[in-house]
Amino acid sequence: MKKIVLAVILLYSGVLAAQQKSFDYFIKNATVYDGTGAAGTILHVGISKDKIQYVGTDSTMQAKNVIDGRGYVLSPGFIDPHTHADRWLKGDDTNYLFPWVAQGVTTVFVGSDGFGTYEINKSFATFEEKGMGANVAAFVGFGPIRSKVLGNDVVQPDKADIEEMKILVEQGMKEGALGLSTGLLYVPQIWSKTPEIVELSKVAAQYGGIYDTHMRSESNNIIQSINEVITIGKEAGLPVHISHIKISGERNWGRSTEVIELIDKHRAAGMDITANQYPFVASLTGLKNGLMPKWALAGGNARMVQRLNDPEDLKKIKAFLVKRTDEQNKRVVVSTLDKEMQYLNGKSLYDLCQEWQLPIEEAAVKLLKLKPSISGMSFTMDEQDILNFSKQPWVMTGSDGGGFHPRTYATFTQIVENYSLAKEVFPLEWAIHRATGMTARKFKIPNRGEIREGYFADIILFKPEEVKAHSDFVHIDRLSEGMRYVFVNGKPVIEEKNFTKKLPGQTIKRAQ
Ligand SMILES: [Zn+2]
Repeated sequence: MKKIVLAVILLYSGVLAAQQKSFDYFIKNATVYDGTGAAGTILHVGISKDKIQYVGTDSTMQAKNVIDGRGYVLSPGFIDPHTHADRWLKGDDTNYLFPWVAQGVTTVFVGSDGFGTYEINKSFATFEEKGMGANVAAFVGFGPIRSKVLGNDVVQPDKADIEEMKILVEQGMKEGALGLSTGLLYVPQIWSKTPEIVELSKVAAQYGGIYDTHMRSESNNIIQSINEVITIGKEAGLPVHISHIKISGERNWGRSTEVIELIDKHRAAGMDITANQYPFVASLTGLKNGLMPKWALAGGNARMVQRLNDPEDLKKIKAFLVKRTDEQNKRVVVSTLDKEMQYLNGKSLYDLCQEWQLPIEEAAVKLLKLKPSISGMSFTMDEQDILNFSKQPWVMTGSDGGGFHPRTYATFTQIVENYSLAKEVFPLEWAIHRATGMTARKFKIPNRGEIREGYFADIILFKPEEVKAHSDFVHIDRLSEGMRYVFVNGKPVIEEKNFTKKLPGQTIKRAQ
């Protein structure tokens, strides 16, 4: 009798399990890299609605769609902690975020370099209304806050100004920002001093946020800049993160060793300091930032153009520009997504001097008058420094993507194809971890970044040897290749290697 009852119960619970476990997708026999840095194991993964419902060894589960994952890697979708995808999300067909999705990226952070709004809810509502090809999380940016309270001129805040700025940081944090982001190269953030940033960071700290920064200097003053980050972390009491860590300028090449030593020392003393990095030897930013003397940037673009038209100011600006060498001018190349200026793409400042038959001080002024916000790549890094940083256990992958630069199209694929497989800098499980679990944990992204039951189904399926980063400095806007499936919240945005043009991305708020 007992046996019969037991058999009935077993049968019944078996039926129940089968009924419960009818997934939308069931991916069988893939090599699962769970995002924690652990090596791959062959497992089966079930997805229903927007969640991972099952991870295990039972292959008999039912599903509407069964995918044979044999020979494929299954991992969490990549999380990109530093992007300028904001404007892509606002565009009518750019909101699919194809350059990212093609690399297996399922979450992008926006508001980087201190450019993000403090009105997170409002900007999230705009993104949601249009739809998103990937998930979006945001930083509250220092720039708009300082600009609102103090304008764009060279001004220092008084106590009341600081209080006013703190309220705006608080708004951003309350609305789910991951933390405070700064870009201390950019107007008006460039005028701030450390104590001001410490005060604002204290608000981010109160809400469990992070300090994320594009440092004041990535070249000659790199050590001072890192010390500033450390001071902010200590005095405000929050984790800190250095975006696109790099060594710029030939005379600084090799100093990655010094920087690594400094960061390691503070990490050993208990400081939570990490960084992200893209694997390319050129950076990209507004050309004015590298060309103009600092004082000439004050007030913003319109004010800069006024100075370029003012004979006295122009004389001083030209005296500054004339010191540039041919070698320096050859390293700076126009690279813009701005359609009306793209005829200049690929041309160096040196090329423009030749073409326009002008000395550099005239050519640079002509260029900035044509388009004050024009961007360009600077070939100022050494591959060895990039490699050194990439080997550190505190460095994540971050594209800084958004502009006309291979980093937008091929950062994550370059890490898999080139750094992990070809150069064997680190194993595949680490290439995955530094773009998934490590990032989710540092930035408090809830229930993502790992392959785990109950987590959101942000999942990619690919053969490592098929991953190709096609974008390079000559052919920039070439999408990466190799993703067979990319699921965002359980919906495929890439299905059997084709874009589905679905927009299943969600906005993400910092975990409480
Ligand atoms: Zn930056």
